[in-house]
Amino acid sequence: MSYDFLKTPITYLKGVGPKRAELLQKELNIDSFGQMLEYYPFRYIDRTKVHKIKDISSDMTFVQLVGQVRSMETIGVNRKQRLSVVFEDDTGKIELVWFKGIKWIREKIQPNQQYLVFGRPTVFRNSFNIAHPDFEILISKEQLQSRGKFQPYYSSTEKLKNKGLNARGIEKIMRNLIAEADGKIPETLPDDLLQDYSLLSRNLALKNIHFPGDHAMLEKARKRLKFEELFFIQLKILGMKKRAHKVRGHVFESVKDNFNYFYANNLKFNLTNAQKRVIKEIRKDTADGYQMNRLLQGDVGSGKTLVALMSMLIALDNGLQASLMAPTEILAGQHFKTITQMLEGMDVNIRMLTGSSKKSERNEIHQGLQEGTVDILIGTHALIEDNVMFRNLGFVVIDEQHRFGVAQRAKLWKKNTIPPHVLVMTATPIPRTLAMTVYGDLDVSIIDELPPGRKPVKTYHFTDAKRLKVFAFMKDQINKGRQIYVVYPLINESQKLDLKDLMDGYESIAREFPLPDYAISIVHGQMKPEAKDYEMQRFAKGETQILVATTVIEVGVDIPNASVMVIENAERFGLSQLHQLRGRVGRGAEQSFCILMTKTNLTQDGQKRIATMVQSSDGFKVAEEDMKLRGPGDIEGTQQSGILDLKISDIVQDEKILKLAREKANHLLEQDPELKSEKSLPVRKYLKYSGDKVADWSRIS
Ligand code: ADP
Ligand code: MG
Repeated sequence: MSYDFLKTPITYLKGVGPKRAELLQKELNIDSFGQMLEYYPFRYIDRTKVHKIKDISSDMTFVQLVGQVRSMETIGVNRKQRLSVVFEDDTGKIELVWFKGIKWIREKIQPNQQYLVFGRPTVFRNSFNIAHPDFEILISKEQLQSRGKFQPYYSSTEKLKNKGLNARGIEKIMRNLIAEADGKIPETLPDDLLQDYSLLSRNLALKNIHFPGDHAMLEKARKRLKFEELFFIQLKILGMKKRAHKVRGHVFESVKDNFNYFYANNLKFNLTNAQKRVIKEIRKDTADGYQMNRLLQGDVGSGKTLVALMSMLIALDNGLQASLMAPTEILAGQHFKTITQMLEGMDVNIRMLTGSSKKSERNEIHQGLQEGTVDILIGTHALIEDNVMFRNLGFVVIDEQHRFGVAQRAKLWKKNTIPPHVLVMTATPIPRTLAMTVYGDLDVSIIDELPPGRKPVKTYHFTDAKRLKVFAFMKDQINKGRQIYVVYPLINESQKLDLKDLMDGYESIAREFPLPDYAISIVHGQMKPEAKDYEMQRFAKGETQILVATTVIEVGVDIPNASVMVIENAERFGLSQLHQLRGRVGRGAEQSFCILMTKTNLTQDGQKRIATMVQSSDGFKVAEEDMKLRGPGDIEGTQQSGILDLKISDIVQDEKILKLAREKANHLLEQDPELKSEKSLPVRKYLKYSGDKVADWSRIS
């Protein structure tokens, strides 16, 4: 069967002329019959049901009423005009409002006529009204029954509505299309897949997704179309990944002195199993002749940096240079310090390059890199500038990929004739399902185990009313020799207000923890860098017991003795941010605590976020929960991934289907990499057909 029918321009559809066609193109990106068929309803409405006005409640998204018009009135002048209609049934009254098409409605309305009203009730001045409802003369009860229990409801836009293509208008032309399309829709999936998972044919699925015969058919249609969508995405990603692997890479032939010396002498503890596993994964990936692109996920303190360092040592062992790039100068500085310490006594030349490196130092480093005397370069974005040239760069670690764009990565690739292996580390784990989809072309390693002896941070939630109790707890901890962070949110809406919050908080803490028994540091965004640094240093050295700060401390602080994190207005933080902040404590041997302070009345979302934090200290669980609450679109890193273009599936809810689709896509590619067999024919044809119309997966990285 050919795709000619599906490629028919939309203007040839009954009910769509050139004008509507142009609008459909502009507003919904629909050019052809095939694309129109993939414009799925976003909900279904039971149109056999009539509601009573007295039963309307705020949780109803749609109501259908039968009744009469009691009165109408045009209010306001010119552009601000609205038509207010009082509509009643035998149980009560409700206001219907029109802001547009007033004249037309006025003329249409007649007294003593039964109307069918359908729309979304909203609360306005303490009573319900319905703006721009569907409004039609009710002819008979049968008319209602014929609407069915699953009337598709399509989303529309203002411009489309103006051309008569509201939800109902789209439904009408869709009906025409489905009638024409029957039997002309090619199958896209191999036969055995359809059989094995009892999937509907594409033809039947499309018919039933728009006009379900019954609930069971709707569910089957959904399942089939979700599977198809995820299957083709996975096919593209996996295909891309296989191609990506063809890029030639440095071969790290063997592990030699640097690694072995470090392992035998400098490493003071045993690696966790997760660390060993990841090092093996990296070892394998860097020895197979292809360039590595690997994402390393793991909670703060799970030992990612150590893994990265050991991998860099393997690069050095093979005569190559390595580089580590951090998102901020503070963080780069910290990496430089710890890595220098860890490699003590070894003959490895480590240098740091940031935006504030002095010119003379910079020149010296540039030269050392080109001559090959610098082994490891640590720095910020400054180190991917074009004038930074290496003699033979073989391995690059990027810390926190979210702040690192695709373009910057591309620059990295050009640092050597053979591109360096790339390891991206992130402490903001993303859910596995998302990783499968978003980072399809990256291999993912996970450290899901903390080093032994690390006690998980205990998290508690208190409302402001319990502040005295919290102060008492803080005193107790300070008496035991611990240090405490108190963090205020930075909301950016008004720096002044944020600062005021912080200052108010600081004052009340200062009253409660007075000199000379206690000393407090304060750090915020409006301080000069030197002043910030000075205060941070005092806290780091233990000269102060409490650090009051805005979220500037989110990245780049490592003070093992600080074992309590108090987060003020915790409800204002997102989950991943809360988890990041919590990661600042729990770095020493002592039990650590995270205390979430909130006001009393939280939104439902706020409550869930706080509850998640209290219940789980595992970054992956927190990330899953975050995705459920916010949807994948808001999770960092997904914005440009095309994942938002999903038409029917939802990677939170459809995890099972996603896994199956991935498995099957992988299987097919293994059996038939070029998709050349008879069995793969429908797949190949659909890929060809969908060609440039599907999301451009090459944008992902
Ligand atoms: P991450 O980069 O994931 O935040 P790090 O590599 O900085 O974690 O490790 C955090 C701390 O734990 C460091 O002080 C590091 O030396 C230590 N560490 C790492 N791996 C282990 C291990 N297997 N056993 C004990 N301590 C470890
Ligand atoms: Mg490789």
